Amino acid sequence: MDVMEKIVSLCKRRGFIYPGSEIYGGLTGFWDYGPLGVELKNNIKRQWWKDMVYSRDDVVGIDAAIIMNPEVWKASGHLEAFTDPLVECKACHKRFRADQPEVLKKHETEHHGKADWTKQVTFNLMTEVFLGVTEPKQKAYLRGEITQGVFVNFQNVINSSRVKIPFGIAQIGKAFRNEITPGNFTFRSREFEQMELEYFVKPSDDDSLATFESLKEMRINWYSGLGISTKNLRFRDHEPEERAHYARQATDIEYNSPFGWKEFEGIHHRGDWDLSRHKLSYKDPESGENYTPWVIETSGGVDRATLFFIIDSFREEEKRVVLKLDSKIAPYKVAVFPLLANKDKLVDKARGIYELLKRDFVVAWDTRGNIGKRYFAQDEIGTPWCVTADFETLDKDSVTVRDRDTATQERVSIDKLSDYFHNKLV
Ligand code: ATP
Repeated sequence: MDVMEKIVSLCKRRGFIYPGSEIYGGLTGFWDYGPLGVELKNNIKRQWWKDMVYSRDDVVGIDAAIIMNPEVWKASGHLEAFTDPLVECKACHKRFRADQPEVLKKHETEHHGKADWTKQVTFNLMTEVFLGVTEPKQKAYLRGEITQGVFVNFQNVINSSRVKIPFGIAQIGKAFRNEITPGNFTFRSREFEQMELEYFVKPSDDDSLATFESLKEMRINWYSGLGISTKNLRFRDHEPEERAHYARQATDIEYNSPFGWKEFEGIHHRGDWDLSRHKLSYKDPESGENYTPWVIETSGGVDRATLFFIIDSFREEEKRVVLKLDSKIAPYKVAVFPLLANKDKLVDKARGIYELLKRDFVVAWDTRGNIGKRYFAQDEIGTPWCVTADFETLDKDSVTVRDRDTATQERVSIDKLSDYFHNKLV
């Protein structure tokens, strides 16, 4: 098995990610998150919100509707330009993105090195939905990016909060794209989540470029700060011809994945594209000056981040498989076990510790198999610490705390246990 096969298998077996609607044969480009996957994904989103909204004075959050008036998409240019180039293989009628030469080459090898492609056409990625009860139903779209929900609420946010330029609006939510070739597990899905900051600045080349550079640094440091190895991260500047229709300048943060260097966040200088298209402007409350702010955006994918955090933390050691996830995002923070599952006194004592820790942390309980197996089972899902109640616990009210990464053990009194983990998690 190659490493991706191992990761996909672990994700399914341990309840991180399942194929969507699997019992009906699945649906290409859709995935479901299981009990551990939802914890990991929620922790990533929570940490992002904490760092991008709560820790800053100049950012507020919103949560806009997924379906908006179709006029939004007309104005934003998405109905016209949110497209990928498409070609079809004339022999087998499979369709591919024309801008992915390595994929086209791979397909050509299936036809002995030669394929006859149709002329390239542009394919719009917006997903149509139909609303209402009378025919013809009203056509609308599932949003192709969460960004437009921020722009259409620009004035509402200014009127209802105390923000002043420069300021940012943050949002996390689902987006939908009718991708031509979904694939590489959750990397390219048709339904996915984005976490975005739209940062509004005065129109000025120098200031906006300084903001662009500082947001680039902040975002790459966010990923490395949560454990992604710096050697697996890099920036890639977009060439002018590959930039999205709204972008004056664009840089991707890429991850060195088993399927190549791939984007997991885009930093875009959107200029005044969106606010002008929506005919929105800003009046400086002090100077009275009227202008259309420029926007610098950081647009990350929650699902790609989740996948890359799993891949980057995946280790196969001699006897065990470990997810060395940062404790801030690990699904469980602690697992609690009795040393022996058939000794009632140990089980009761361990259960009491479990109940105690559950007040403050997400905690796993396990009595299956022997203690070594339980440690390995927790290693495989990234639980940073395991607490074992043993015979000494009955006499001295202390437990062993075993560290996932070093596999070393430490004795800690039960009354200090909560503080011990709180200190580790700051
Ligand atoms: P790509 O070039 O891979 O298609 P993009 O440049 O179109 O991505 P953006 O429009 O910049 O992507 O979207 C911002 C972020 O949203 C991406 O960096 C990625 O993390 C996430 N994202 C975009 N499309 C998908 C998708 N189909 N599946 C999962 N995540 C996605």
